[in-house]
Amino acid sequence: MLSMQVPSQVEYERATSVEHALSLLTRPETRILAGGHSLIPMMKLRLAQPEVLVDINGLTELAYIRLDDGQLRIGALARHADLLDSAVAGQLYPILHDAERVVADPIVRLWGTVGGSLCQADPSEDLSAVFAATRAIAVIRGLGGNRMIPVREFHLGPYETVIGPGELLAEVRIPVQPGTGSAYEKVSRRVGDWSIAAAGAVLRLDQNQKIASAGIGLTAVGAEHFVAAQAEDFLLGRAADEESFAAAGAIAAEGCHPVVDQRGPEDYKRHLVAELTTRALRRAALRVTLEA
Ligand SMILES: Cc1cc2nc3c(=O)[nH]c(=O)nc-3n(C[C@H](O)[C@H](O)[C@H](O)COP(=O)(O)OP(=O)(O)OC[C@H]3O[C@@H](n4cnc5c(N)ncnc54)[C@H](O)[C@@H]3O)c2cc1C
Repeated sequence: MLSMQVPSQVEYERATSVEHALSLLTRPETRILAGGHSLIPMMKLRLAQPEVLVDINGLTELAYIRLDDGQLRIGALARHADLLDSAVAGQLYPILHDAERVVADPIVRLWGTVGGSLCQADPSEDLSAVFAATRAIAVIRGLGGNRMIPVREFHLGPYETVIGPGELLAEVRIPVQPGTGSAYEKVSRRVGDWSIAAAGAVLRLDQNQKIASAGIGLTAVGAEHFVAAQAEDFLLGRAADEESFAAAGAIAAEGCHPVVDQRGPEDYKRHLVAELTTRALRRAALRVTLEA
């Protein structure tokens, strides 16, 4: 017998401004529709059953990527493809381009949004680890104004964020600092697939080539808030060399909590974390002078 998966009945509203969207979002059981690449499949499977969809695709005021006041500002409605095309993003934070090259496929990247990626809070979402590594700030807007939340505090768990009723994610801000290098390394089963594991690194070096700050984000391996915090602490003040990077990779592998699934056993995933963290740190360090 042929069976179809269809969403349950839902009311559709097209927001004409951010304020309009926010006023619609005060209604119960209301969800934002951005790219729809995650929400619509979840609705078809009845894993999500909103009563009202608020389509924000017309809100071009949320679709931008620009350098402003020492921060890279990315509007929530910027598409993955926009981020991959953005010269300023790639120049300041190559980790963004590294990651966007391996997020899904070109069709998904044309429609899926930066905001949707973060708000979906899927443990395998690449940008969550990237923004954690860069210590980005999420700008959450409600009718009362904005509140700023570090991305490292944005996710409460799988598929759960700090965004409350009547709020939306408006922007992601990444502080720009000279002497910074960054990179992202991912392994998946085939091109365009979700990560088996991935690691992102952001390094800032002082004048003696010692590590002044380190950000390490991990994807799909159960790292708390997508961060390898102990590995970051270990690196502070150390030489930016192979020995430090390999040791940090081992600490990152030890500190995460990968689950066994169709993508592989736990020891394989830990091995990937060690190797990918080391590679990301190595490449981030090589890029420091280019970006300074
Ligand atoms: C085949 C396929 C392969 C994929 N592979 C990858 C991959 O390899 N790596 C990866 O990282 N991702 C992958 N994705 C995910 C994809 O890249 C999108 O990022 C993701 O689907 C969410 O973005 P969206 O704009 O489609 O969000 P939507 O599906 O529209 O929304 C997702 C959730 O976020 C909420 N939301 C959206 N925007 C906002 C906002 N501004 N404020 C508050 N809440 C909001 C929605 O209400 C919903 O709950 C894949 C998706 C598909 C379909």
